[in-house]
Amino acid sequence: MDFLHYQNGHLFANKIAISDLAQQYGTPLYVYSAAHITKQFLEYSQVLVNRKHLVCYAVKANSNLAILNLLAKLGAGFDIVSLGELERVLKAGAEPNKIVFSGVAKSVIEIERALRAGIKCFNVESEAELYRINDVAKQMGKIAAISLRINPDVDAKTHPYISTGLRENKFGISYQLALSVYRQAVSLTNIKVVGIDCHIGSQLTELSPFLDAADRVLALVAKLKAENIHLEHIDFGGGLGVCYADEQPPSASLLMTELNKKLLPYPDIELLCEPGRSIVANAGLLICKVEYTKHQDDNHFAIIDAGMNDLIRPALYQAWMRVLPEKEPQNTDESYNYNVVGPICESSDVLAYQRQLSVQQDDLLVVCSAGAYGFSMASNYNSQPRPAEVMLVADNQHQVIRQRESIEDLWRGETFL
Ligand SMILES: *Cc1c(COP(=O)(O)O)cnc(C)c1O
Repeated sequence: MDFLHYQNGHLFANKIAISDLAQQYGTPLYVYSAAHITKQFLEYSQVLVNRKHLVCYAVKANSNLAILNLLAKLGAGFDIVSLGELERVLKAGAEPNKIVFSGVAKSVIEIERALRAGIKCFNVESEAELYRINDVAKQMGKIAAISLRINPDVDAKTHPYISTGLRENKFGISYQLALSVYRQAVSLTNIKVVGIDCHIGSQLTELSPFLDAADRVLALVAKLKAENIHLEHIDFGGGLGVCYADEQPPSASLLMTELNKKLLPYPDIELLCEPGRSIVANAGLLICKVEYTKHQDDNHFAIIDAGMNDLIRPALYQAWMRVLPEKEPQNTDESYNYNVVGPICESSDVLAYQRQLSVQQDDLLVVCSAGAYGFSMASNYNSQPRPAEVMLVADNQHQVIRQRESIEDLWRGETFL
C-alpha cells in the first residue's frame, strides 16, 4: 500500500488525512487509489509489446463503475461471470469485442444478451453449456465464438476455497475430456472455436503453478493443431496473488514475461489473461471506527462499525488483513492484544485476530488491501447499509464513486402483504 503513510503521528493516503475522509464521508468507508489501479493494470501489458494481447480485468474483484470505466479507458478487456457484470461493463464503456464470459451456469438469457452485445468469446465450462450456446446462437442466426475452459489439474497451492484447477473442482472441462469436446465443438454449426483457457485459483504466490498449467494447456494446443484445430488466443486466467502480510508473489511483469516465453512457438497467437485481485487489492482500504473496547478476563475486543457484511474475506477464507491505527503507535502507549470484531451477530464476525493495538473508543482503524473481494462481496446482513466508496483521483483530490446506502435502500422492492 505505497500510498499510505504516517505523517505527524497520523495516517495519510497520499496527502489526504484518513481522519478527514472519515469526517467528510462517514465510516465504514472504502477508499481506492486510481493511480495504484492504473499502475497495476499497465504492468501486465508493458512486457507484451511484441505480442498481441488483451488483459481482461476480472470484474468480480471490484465492479464499481468508476473502476471499470478507468480500466476501459486504459484499453482493458473484461472477464465477466454474469448478466449483471455484462451490463456493468457495457455501462462503463467497455468495447464488447474485449469481453470474455466465464462462469459455470450461464443461462439462456445471459447467452442471448452476450451474443446480442457481440462479446469476444464465451469461456465454456461444460459440454452441456457448449450445446446450449450453439442452440441459442442458431435461433438468433449468429455464430458464437468460444474457448474451452480446461481444468489443467494442477495444485495452485492456495487456500482450498479459492483453488479452482484441481480435478475435483466444479470449474472447467476435465483435461482428459478436452480433446473430445473440442472435436464436438468444431462440428457444431453455430460455434466458432477461437481459444482455450484456464484459471487455476486465486492468491497464487508462486510462479510454478502458472507455468505448470501453461505447459498442460500448450500440450493440448499442440494436439489440437495436429487435428487441424487452430486457435486464435490462449487465456491463462487470473489468480496472481498480492502481499497481504509478508507474501512475496511474483510481479505481473515477470508472470507475463514467462508466459509469453512459453508462447514462442506460436508468434501469432493472442495472449489473454484475467487478473482481478492483483489489480485492485492493494489499491483499496476500509476505514472503520472503534465503537467500543471491551476487556473481559484475558480477552480484549476492539468493536468496530464494519463487519463481515462489509468485508467477508477474514470470515469466509480465514484471510489475514493488515489493520493500521489512524494514530501512529508510540512505544509508550498502553496496548492490548485485540480481536477486532464487527457489529454482526455471528461469532465469525472477526476482521482480525490477536493484533497488538492501542485504541480507544471513537479512534479510527484502517483495514489494508481491501480493494479486491471487499465491496463486491458486501451484503446487507443485519440490515446494515453498504458503505460509501471513494476514489483518490490525485494527491489531494477525492471523489465519491458510490454513495453510502440509505435506510430506504434497505427495503427497496419489498412490499407489505
Ligand atoms: C475470479 C476469476 C478470475 C480472477 O481471479 P483473481 O485471483 O482475482 O485474479 C479470473 N478468471 C476467472 C474465470 C475467475 O473466476
